[in-house]
Amino acid sequence: ASDAAALKTACQTHRPTLVFIETPSNPWLRTVDVAAAAQETHAVGGTLVVDATAATPILMKPLALGADIVMHSATKAINGHSDVLAGVLSTNAPTDPIWEAIKMDRHDAGAVLGPFEAWLLIRAMRTLPLRVERMTENAVTLAQYLHNHPQVEDVFYPGLPHHPGHEVAKQQMSGYGSLLSVLVKGGRAEALKVVGKLQLFLRATSLGGVESLVEHRHTIEPYTGIPENLIRVSVGIEHIDDLKDDWEQALS
Ligand SMILES: *Cc1c(COP(=O)(O)O)cnc(C)c1O
Repeated sequence: ASDAAALKTACQTHRPTLVFIETPSNPWLRTVDVAAAAQETHAVGGTLVVDATAATPILMKPLALGADIVMHSATKAINGHSDVLAGVLSTNAPTDPIWEAIKMDRHDAGAVLGPFEAWLLIRAMRTLPLRVERMTENAVTLAQYLHNHPQVEDVFYPGLPHHPGHEVAKQQMSGYGSLLSVLVKGGRAEALKVVGKLQLFLRATSLGGVESLVEHRHTIEPYTGIPENLIRVSVGIEHIDDLKDDWEQALS
């Protein structure tokens, strides 16, 4: 979907009822032009759904860009404290048949948030803009630092000018988010060694929390072509010097 021409061809060939995109994507950090995807989807009468979890509702407004439905895992930055499982769908068109169907399914299947989780979310969302601001600022600095590090082969982050999705991200987002992937020089063994040496970055699969996390993504998803030297990083709100120092000692 990050290839606009390919997405257009796919829409025209298959005439899909529903197009589901994720931007920026995890763990490749690929970027999809939401406005272009909306145009191609609507041209064949389809509905565009955007998983905007990595962008957060603070940094991107897919409904304003033409999406029909936006999905967020509230388990991630919206809650931000790694202690709630929740999700959000939003729309501009609450009378559309698809939205009626979603509401009916939620009602009948009972996927309704418990009051305690709802309360935790309300509390957490008070600091959502502040957390996202700090996390994004940290991520930009860390991405630049890692990109310039001699032990690093590449960094996937939409905020870096060499990233293929940089221009699209710049256009449709007000910041580049807290998720990045680092490809260390070497292979699996070198990546696992770095992950093992990191002390501040905890090893865990989630993302978007106040604490910085790393994950050797190939171990989690071995059959999807993820490079074995790729370390997925979720940047938290810690002091940037501590984050850089941790990578410096882990890479040396
Ligand atoms: C985590 C995640 C999900 C799934 O959300 P849960 O709240 O864990 O069920 C979906 N999309 C993206 C991009 C995610 O990061």
